[in-house]
Amino acid sequence: MEPEIFATEEKKRIALVAHDNKKEDLLEWARFNRGLLAEHRICSTGTTGALLERELDFPVTKLQSGPLGGDQQIGAKIADGEIDFLIFFWDPLEPHPHDPDVKALLRIAVVWNVPIACNRASADFMVSSPLMASSYERHLPDYEGYRKRRVTGEQAGPAGEAGRFPG
Ligand code: PGA
Repeated sequence: MEPEIFATEEKKRIALVAHDNKKEDLLEWARFNRGLLAEHRICSTGTTGALLERELDFPVTKLQSGPLGGDQQIGAKIADGEIDFLIFFWDPLEPHPHDPDVKALLRIAVVWNVPIACNRASADFMVSSPLMASSYERHLPDYEGYRKRRVTGEQAGPAGEAGRFPG
């Protein structure tokens, strides 16, 4: 079976998120990398996005604030193949009301083999990769077996078309 592949173009779709105690760090990092980030498309949770837009002076796609569902919106975009990588400066020293959402976002990024940087050093390594300037084929694990699995008490049939309500 051929692996499922997501083609990543030269212009990357980058999700940037920072918890409150890490926002200054992300802004400083983004300021330093402004020239590079301007060549790609940036999407962010609400508050991070508003700060980035002001700092970088170019448009950023802003979703809901993280605790209001923004992290889950980024997760949904990852599952829809609309994010090429995620930079999430999360705060390891504070509990947050949306900790389950953060965990879910990191999990779904791993499910879809989306690169993640959770601190500044990883983000530096990520954006200095030669792959930033080229296209890339992101191979997905083989989920066909999972999609076609038999569930107790049911006749397993083909999974419905993703994103479609049954007619
Ligand atoms: P915010 O959300 O950018 O809206 O502050 C970030 C988060 O805490 O997930």
